[in-house]
Amino acid sequence: MCARLLLSLIWLALAGLWGSTAAGERAALDALVRAYPDQLVGYDSVDLIWRDGTRMQLSDGRPVKSFAETLRHGSLLDQLRLPYPAGATGAVPGPDDDPGRIRNRAFFDKMYGDCWKGEVSLRLVPVVWLPRSWGRSIRITSVNGVAEHIAAVSEELDALPDAVKRYAYPPAGTYNCRTVADTGGPSMHSWGVAIDINAARADYWLWHGSGVIDAGLVNRIPPEIVAVFERHGFIWGGKWSHYDTMHFEYRPELLDGDRPRESVSFQPAAQR
Ligand SMILES: [Zn+2]
Repeated sequence: MCARLLLSLIWLALAGLWGSTAAGERAALDALVRAYPDQLVGYDSVDLIWRDGTRMQLSDGRPVKSFAETLRHGSLLDQLRLPYPAGATGAVPGPDDDPGRIRNRAFFDKMYGDCWKGEVSLRLVPVVWLPRSWGRSIRITSVNGVAEHIAAVSEELDALPDAVKRYAYPPAGTYNCRTVADTGGPSMHSWGVAIDINAARADYWLWHGSGVIDAGLVNRIPPEIVAVFERHGFIWGGKWSHYDTMHFEYRPELLDGDRPRESVSFQPAAQR
């Protein structure tokens, strides 16, 4: 009798766990579909479904991978796992807490093109960066309205006090067909959706040596600048344990207020 009761309790606990796992997974996927309405229409238990009918597998069937492996070969679900702490939280990221750095290459190649095949540069358009302060053009993708979003960021930054907006120019680069130094995967710059602001006032974990990561975040960028970018769908590299405080990239799916605030665990492959 006791054993049967115990088994029932275990079953109920597991069912509850799977239920909350599925809910977290759905909330993260819903946020992804909401973020890219021009491209995505939905998902089922196996695939993400694009507007043109393309299907992409959500899982690679390997839910347990090292962080280094996940950074290099992240599935669509891996890409959504870590929550991005929007707003001035002041929280110092834990080890390997890099929300946004896990990127599924096939997803972004389909969205913005493969720069090594010359597909990204065709979609770049000029935007004048801080017209009243710097006034020269940067090039950024027109896909997903990213150029309009960066123009709105530029307008708002230009209205900030001189001492604050000085951190935003001259920009250190936007489009650049290159890989990321430590992961070997394409940089968000290679898809034309990222900008590096004034490098002379920024900090990057590789400049300081990895020991600094354990000592906590190094940052000089004013929070007003981060708030403007986040309002328009750009996440900040200053919130990564592998910090890069000049870097902003367009990732509206991570700024959706209804996505899970906790790390999302996904249904085991056998359950889908
Ligand atoms: Zn960058």
